[in-house]
Amino acid sequence: MSLILTIYFFILGLCFGSFALATAWRIKKHKDFVRDTSECEHCKHKLAAKDLIPLFSWLSLGGKCRYCHKKLSRLMPLAELLGGVALAASFVWWPYEFNSALLVARFALWCVALILLLILFLYDLQWYILPNKVIYPLWGVSAAYFVTFFISKPTPYTLALLAGAIFIASGLFYAIYELSRGAWIGFGDVRLGFAIALLVMQPIQAGLVLFIASFVGMVVTIPLLVTGNKKLSSKIPFGPLLILATFITVLFGQAIASWYSTQILML
Ligand SMILES: [Zn+2]
Repeated sequence: MSLILTIYFFILGLCFGSFALATAWRIKKHKDFVRDTSECEHCKHKLAAKDLIPLFSWLSLGGKCRYCHKKLSRLMPLAELLGGVALAASFVWWPYEFNSALLVARFALWCVALILLLILFLYDLQWYILPNKVIYPLWGVSAAYFVTFFISKPTPYTLALLAGAIFIASGLFYAIYELSRGAWIGFGDVRLGFAIALLVMQPIQAGLVLFIASFVGMVVTIPLLVTGNKKLSSKIPFGPLLILATFITVLFGQAIASWYSTQILML
């Protein structure tokens, strides 16, 4: 049963990825969200339903446009795979139960947040900006996600932890933004930080997001620096790293924190 559900979420995630990439492109081109149909980036041929089956269309056509036979962006199958893996992994390693309406709503809200995070990931990767058109809806969804926790534990302590998370994920970014005059991180990262705080809800977890993002950033940047490809390394956007780190922290943050306190601090 859970294997079938995992496959189901993987396929649904492929569609999420496809939708996220198309939405990123549409926001970039200021196109109408709903009415506009997809087209080939080369010949502008309108794409039919059979061209838009995630992964399958790209594979069966060998990565080329059906109409003009020019190569299609590799980002397409990559975005779809990313969505599929992200959603399937969310289902498999979801740290909470599914046994009440509130808990199912919590997972559903996470899925919606995941779509918005995917759009931001793909947008920032290509154009080095986190568009507000996506950030503000993400604030709303993340706030609703936080509310599902607050309902089950409506104490001042829950709010205090959130305040700490906001201070770290958004306040610290704002300080870095001000100090570096926008050179190290953009104001979009500060806005994204607020949504991240609502999703991870605790200062330790917010710190973990920063740590993972910086660590992965370092791992990605060092080979570029060594090979002398500095142009590339100086243009790695921080947004996708933060989003990846948030994803890891939401799924594994509690496990990492308790592993750390028992194995490292011997508590
Ligand atoms: Zn074409």
